Amino acid sequence: MKVSGRYGTFTPKPHQAGYYAKRAQRQQQQRQAQATSLRAWLEQHKSCANSCGQPVAFYDTINYALRYSGCCSPECESVLEARLTEKAFAAKPNNPNP
Ligand SMILES: [Zn+2]
Repeated sequence: MKVSGRYGTFTPKPHQAGYYAKRAQRQQQQRQAQATSLRAWLEQHKSCANSCGQPVAFYDTINYALRYSGCCSPECESVLEARLTEKAFAAKPNNPNP
């Protein structure tokens, strides 16, 4: 139905209602799953990856892009990076200089 040149809200036909209800339920479940996973992810990135106790820095809090790869500051990021590479180097089985 056209209302002042635009199509109004869509109402499914009675025989289609079941399908649309199913789709709405599926979308609702997807939204819930996304919210749950986002909460879990935020819980994981609540404090600095370098465990200094500061909150993690984000580029933006709409899409939650991690700044400094899960750390609070560039200093913490470099410290964490150094620690990780050190660990990776030490874990190498055939280290020429043990
Ligand atoms: Zn930190």
